[in-house]
Amino acid sequence: MPPFVYARIARRKADTHVRFDPAALARLTHVPEPVIGLEIHLAVKARSKMFCACDADGFGSDPNTNVCPVCMGLPGSLPVANREAIALGLRFARALGCEVPERTQFHRKHYFYPDAPKNYQISQFERPIGEHGAVPIPGGRTIGITRVHLEEDAGRLVHPTYADHSLLDLNRAGAPLIEMVTEPDLRTPEEARAFLQEVRAIARALGVSDASPEEGKMRADVNVSLRNPDGSFGTKVEVKNLNSFRSVEAALAFEIRRQERVLEDGFEVVQETRGWNEGGQKTVSQRSKEEAADYRYMPDPDIPAITIHDDQIAAIDAAMPELPAAKRARYAALEVHEDAASQIAYDVHTAGVFDAVTSAWNGPAQIVANWLLSEVAGHLHQDGRTLEEAIPDPDAFAPRLANLLDLVQDRTISSTVAKELLPEVIDGAQASELVESRGLARVADEGALGTVIDAVMAAHPDVVESAREQPKAINALLGRVMKETGGTADASVVRNLIEQRLQA
Ligand code: ADP
Ligand code: ZN
Ligand code: MG
Repeated sequence: MPPFVYARIARRKADTHVRFDPAALARLTHVPEPVIGLEIHLAVKARSKMFCACDADGFGSDPNTNVCPVCMGLPGSLPVANREAIALGLRFARALGCEVPERTQFHRKHYFYPDAPKNYQISQFERPIGEHGAVPIPGGRTIGITRVHLEEDAGRLVHPTYADHSLLDLNRAGAPLIEMVTEPDLRTPEEARAFLQEVRAIARALGVSDASPEEGKMRADVNVSLRNPDGSFGTKVEVKNLNSFRSVEAALAFEIRRQERVLEDGFEVVQETRGWNEGGQKTVSQRSKEEAADYRYMPDPDIPAITIHDDQIAAIDAAMPELPAAKRARYAALEVHEDAASQIAYDVHTAGVFDAVTSAWNGPAQIVANWLLSEVAGHLHQDGRTLEEAIPDPDAFAPRLANLLDLVQDRTISSTVAKELLPEVIDGAQASELVESRGLARVADEGALGTVIDAVMAAHPDVVESAREQPKAINALLGRVMKETGGTADASVVRNLIEQRLQA
């Protein structure tokens, strides 16, 4: 047997536990409101694991190479709490509006599972790093944060189809995680998704976590129930291990509908843990509450409690960067449309470039938003570069884009020409110099344009003929003139001149 092989894990037959209650059907006189609470795990962007010096992000290495006696749980090894991870956790807790206790502590949470080599996980229980927070979400509601705590991640099990045993990779075991738990304050699947987007943006703005579900750096368990007719909370069901925002939304929508049906049919919802079947787009029962684990929490005797001084908290608060919600509000005040404001505010680098350009340029912020989100983003997408790669220094780029936008605003160049110059401006060119050296300034001179128009009209008598009948066909002539002039012609002057000639 190879090392790290554990017994195969028995799969319990999935089974929905429902009890028939005829009275429940009679009570169901309204469509019950969903109540949702989330438990979110974020991979902490610290250099090392939570309690040892192994790489916090070394999952990609060969299996079981990013390990040491501590994270393998060998007897006699001693954990040491990661100062950087604690600092990041505290930062996150404060950003979520949490209170931080004077002393925080780590507990052992006992459970047996082959991916946990110690047979317990070091987590927090009483005195987590944050409690009683609140996060406002777009739309105006605020979601309560029950707690934020630090813990260690588990290893990874692989169940090869060719074998009757499972393989264990401990590269991720002991990696630092933040777990945050919300109050049951969310009401719809869409709102749950909006909340996750908010949390992801906050984590990224703070540099606390990459918070990318696709890399397993953000995972969520969702709890959902339907309110009883008297307004009290109904029995909740937990759906575990959702690893995309889309699946959170889909699992909640499915589960709400399933619970509605259970009630409509006169049954009761049974408290249980369910999983999400991505292929079938449905939740499936995993275990019911009767089998709920007793974790036998106890303070970890190897890790002393940590005192957090008031001046540490004050320093964290003082160094807090502007949060995405505040950015979004600031952009809305600059009259940037809601969608664009969110899109910019929720991406750290886009926000950095936007801030630099709006302070370098006096024109409307919405124009800057349009250029960044459509033209710049579109060009970089084609180029296969990220904004960060193309514009590593927003302060150097800002005056160059401001110069380009000035040329458009004062009508020196058409927006067609401006869009053509953009790639060079991104890569360091000054737009006014390009316009000068290439003769790209807009031509509004009627004499010069008239010559080009006459030539185009003489060359295309058929198009002229249809334009006399159908004013729309003028665009075909206009397009040819623009092409002849390399996009420099003033389109409204050209249109007037063509119309005059058609009427003559
Ligand atoms: P448990 O003891 O099962 O872990 P908790 O009270 O700790 O339950 O809550 C876990 C999560 O479930 C939290 O996010 C909480 O907001 C949510 N939750 C609690 N009660 C309900 C409910 N009735 N409906 C939906 N979510 C709930
Ligand atoms: Zn280690
Ligand atoms: Mg709980």
